[in-house]
Amino acid sequence: MNTRSIHFRLTVWYAGLLTVVFVLLGALLFLQLKHSLEATVLTTQARRAEQIAETLLANVNQTGEPYVVNEIKDLYEPEVSGRFLRVTRKDGSVLYLSGPPNDQGFDPNEVPAAAPSAKREFTRRQALPDGRALLIAAFRTATAGGSYVVEVGVSALPIEKMFDRLLLLLGLGLPVVVLIAVSGGYLLVRRALAPVDRIAGKAEVITQHNLSERLPVARTGDELERLSIALNHMITRLDDAFQNSKRFVADASHELRTPLTVLRGELEHLVRDARLAQDHRDRLGSLLEEVERLTKIVERLFALSRLDAGEAQTEWVPFDLGELVSTTAEQMALLAEDKKIVISCEAAERAAVEGDRARLKQVVVNLLDNAIQYTPEGGAVHLKVSTFNGHAVLEVTDTGAGIPAEAVPHVFDRFFRVDQTRSREGGAGLGLAIVKSICHAHGGTVEVESAVGRGSRFRVKLPSANGQHPQ
Ligand code: ADP
Repeated sequence: MNTRSIHFRLTVWYAGLLTVVFVLLGALLFLQLKHSLEATVLTTQARRAEQIAETLLANVNQTGEPYVVNEIKDLYEPEVSGRFLRVTRKDGSVLYLSGPPNDQGFDPNEVPAAAPSAKREFTRRQALPDGRALLIAAFRTATAGGSYVVEVGVSALPIEKMFDRLLLLLGLGLPVVVLIAVSGGYLLVRRALAPVDRIAGKAEVITQHNLSERLPVARTGDELERLSIALNHMITRLDDAFQNSKRFVADASHELRTPLTVLRGELEHLVRDARLAQDHRDRLGSLLEEVERLTKIVERLFALSRLDAGEAQTEWVPFDLGELVSTTAEQMALLAEDKKIVISCEAAERAAVEGDRARLKQVVVNLLDNAIQYTPEGGAVHLKVSTFNGHAVLEVTDTGAGIPAEAVPHVFDRFFRVDQTRSREGGAGLGLAIVKSICHAHGGTVEVESAVGRGSRFRVKLPSANGQHPQ
């Protein structure tokens, strides 16, 4: 799990915040409830104490203390109702003390005397030595027969038990509620951020070759919709700029072809003029070479721009790659002979491919041309056509200069030349870029293995003909 993702961080924040809020709310509720419940119990006890004081003790001077004690016993039966009841005289002597309740919840003898208080009515939570507690309300009365303090109390145990259960319920319920809320939050965040994954996935596959495609727009009316629309507008502008630059290269190379052809024709004509001095003829010859080089570059640029435009492949035909390779090798044998390079060709089986024959021939020509060019005199170039795993494979191996490892990833880039001085004789670094574009247009690939000083092997893989054009 990615702990830095918005997904994760939002969920953790949400879970943390929710837990704190729930714990605080639970604690507040718990304390408030406990306080008000104890207060209610104490009020009831206070009313009872007041009742005893007002009804029974008010006339104690007429009825006498024993009568009061008997009445309390008869009317209130504290042992049965589980109450604590004590009537204390002003001098501290006890007039009446209830016996232990039937459930033996507390021992009345252990309840200390009430602390002196100036108030007429006062309450307390009296802790007992055995750890239990009583909620006691006291009422002070002064009659003609004397002054008394009536204390009425009940055990705090039932309330404590109830709150223990509530605490347990909160303790168990809280994690469950937090878990449900967090799972819900997690799913919501996931759903809300799902378009981001889709947008990122699509953005990953948009390249210069499919700039006409657009990112998915989630019609949610939120920031993500705005972002994807804005990104799509940006891609549209990039597409326009890209198309403009491609059109410029196509137009420029197209416009350059005609004057270059005229220039070449005129120069060829001039070179053949017998009236020219040898020195002038040599100069014109080297001019002609440069014009030819320029023409080659312009032709290659034009070819690349047409490949970039992905023009409709109208001339797709099925043919044998082995046959194309061997005829091309034969045609170029002369070039190799000049450098005393031996070309060998091996095409054991039929390797049927389907595509634009002229373009695929260009692939063979460019690879062979490079192999001859970058192999010193006396070297060898081997061409091999085979089939492998549904593909026709062409390998062009030479015993030439090789390509340094750091340059290998770039040799198929446009205008890339390993060594500017070494390539002075060659093109402008467009030959392999054309090879790559043609291979891709045919649904194939091209790769190279090379070791400096030992030679290079270019491998072209094209899908075997199966009657369907790659798109
Ligand atoms: P160029 O037209 O300059 O030959 P390419 O695109 O055909 O351009 O090749 C790019 C560079 O790759 C060349 O400049 C050359 O340095 C290197 N290269 C291509 N083929 C070979 C080869 N068979 N052996 C060694 N180097 C090669």
